[in-house]
Amino acid sequence: MHTIISSLRTIFEGEINTTEQTRKKYSHDASIYEMVPEAVLFPKDAMDIKKLVHFVSQSKAEYPALSITPRSAGTDMSGASIGNSLLVDMTRHFSTLHSVSRTEIHTQPGVFMHDIDPVTNEKGVMLGCVPASRAINTIGGMVGNNSGGEQSLRYGNTENFVKELKVVFADGKEYTVKPLNKRELEIKMAQGDFEGELYRKIYDLIEANYDEIKNARPKVNKNSMGYNLWSVWDRHTGIFDMTRLITGSQGTLGVITDIKMHVVPKAPHSGLLVLYLPDIKQLGSIIKTVMDHQPATFEGFDDITFNLGIKHFNLFQKQLGMKEWLKTQAHLLGSVAKFKGHIPNMVLMVEFEGDTQQEVLAKINELKSQMSGFKLKMEIEGSEEESKPFWTIRRASLMLLRQKVHDKYASPFMDDLTVQPKYLPEFLPQLRKIIRKYKLPATIAGHYGDGNFHIIPLMGISSPAEQAKLEPTMREIIPLVLKYNGTLAGEHNDGMVRGPWLPAVFGDHVYQLFRQTKDIFDPQHIFNPHVKTGAAWDYSMDHIRTNNGQELIK
Ligand SMILES: Cc1cc2nc3c(=O)[nH]c(=O)nc-3n(C[C@H](O)[C@H](O)[C@H](O)COP(=O)(O)OP(=O)(O)OC[C@H]3O[C@@H](n4cnc5c(N)ncnc54)[C@H](O)[C@@H]3O)c2cc1C
Repeated sequence: MHTIISSLRTIFEGEINTTEQTRKKYSHDASIYEMVPEAVLFPKDAMDIKKLVHFVSQSKAEYPALSITPRSAGTDMSGASIGNSLLVDMTRHFSTLHSVSRTEIHTQPGVFMHDIDPVTNEKGVMLGCVPASRAINTIGGMVGNNSGGEQSLRYGNTENFVKELKVVFADGKEYTVKPLNKRELEIKMAQGDFEGELYRKIYDLIEANYDEIKNARPKVNKNSMGYNLWSVWDRHTGIFDMTRLITGSQGTLGVITDIKMHVVPKAPHSGLLVLYLPDIKQLGSIIKTVMDHQPATFEGFDDITFNLGIKHFNLFQKQLGMKEWLKTQAHLLGSVAKFKGHIPNMVLMVEFEGDTQQEVLAKINELKSQMSGFKLKMEIEGSEEESKPFWTIRRASLMLLRQKVHDKYASPFMDDLTVQPKYLPEFLPQLRKIIRKYKLPATIAGHYGDGNFHIIPLMGISSPAEQAKLEPTMREIIPLVLKYNGTLAGEHNDGMVRGPWLPAVFGDHVYQLFRQTKDIFDPQHIFNPHVKTGAAWDYSMDHIRTNNGQELIK
């Protein structure tokens, strides 16, 4: 490997770091896995990525272990932004936000959402698919994972926002990928080059299995499992959109170098109805009542998160600003005091939007009066400002667990289950039974309106006894999720943790179609080979992190 990296240095313009310290630093993402790369690369520009991909393609036969894992902020929870060969950090040089207009954002993939948010806010627009990790993730990672967030209730995941991508494919060339009409598709397929072959083969694969592929899409509002073959080709509209396949492909089909996405208008006013549930058993019926009122977003978190949020609220001091922090902390502590020592089992945040604050308050009050039958504590946070502490705790929930619970690791493996909300009254008790059976003290937060739950057990993940719980738990959860036509991942994708279960979820034939898709794009498997269809359970288990460490993601 030493020789090959020396050869790479002669053509690669960006930095290549092989120090132990850096390799170790990049050996984790937010998943339960660890893998030390041979080298961390910081490509200068698209030309550098083209040279790198070409070099790896040419060298793969001689060095089969050589591969490329694209990485942005490394907040992936499925083990898809770590690798054992060349880890390519996109945040150093692909960090230019080109433009934001009333309809579109044009950016390089390594731009952090915390740099995009203020610019879109100023323009009165937003991306409706930004994850709860918006303080720490990038836009390239969102495309990589087909991420979703609180606004996905209305807008769906990132795939719905992608307009045009530039991608370096396995032949080492950069291509523009965008929706094509039938005529444009025919021209592409007639090309005698790698790109022409790619379009031809994917078109043939989808056409030959059209109905099966369309039916394979999990029947939920959001899904990021598998390859999005069902969204690429529509016989009725005649649109062939390969961006759908790249979105959510976790760096397994190519390296994204440029992104254009749609934006949507941001409502001028918003506010929350906060519901404090003493008993999680009520959740199913409450979700139904809330959803009938068509809220803009519907999120929630449990008592463990709530407690941590209150106890460590000073962590958010910087984020909210000192003066405001004092005000909001007092306010939040005030609301907790109302429980006279009884922390609620669950906190639900129902958000409404409007053109005026009065409109927002009217919507909130209407729901509040409907909810009176449930005999809950409820509180109105009638403006965006007042809502902020709750959003801060919700979005920081996993980081709080990681930083503040020292002897256990917040371990994502059943972290993204999604079923249609109408099934929740039946689904949740059965799920709780499995969690109890395997003694998994789990925290729950999530996008409740989508039926999308982030269940994160606190585990001594380095202990074999704890690790032994993973497989049987998955084996019990999968049939339960399938019984309700759901998915194991609404937004966190497959990676190393769910990749091995793709055949169990989609059936062997659709899984083979996913494999063929990978082979068409990446015949030598040079891109992120240990995730999605390339994942194997034993291999993943061999790479479980060896400590319960609390190191921060890069
Ligand atoms: C506290 C916390 C909360 C979270 N909440 C949510 C949530 O609400 N919703 C959600 O969807 N996710 C959530 N996540 C998961 C994660 O933050 C998101 O998926 C995020 O969009 C990943 O962005 P990133 O920049 O960290 O990407 P990375 O982790 O670096 O990469 C993600 C994937 O994209 C690929 N990739 C990155 N850049 C490129 C590129 N240029 N070309 C090709 N492939 C690329 C990587 O190979 C990897 O497979 C959360 C994570 C944490 C830690």
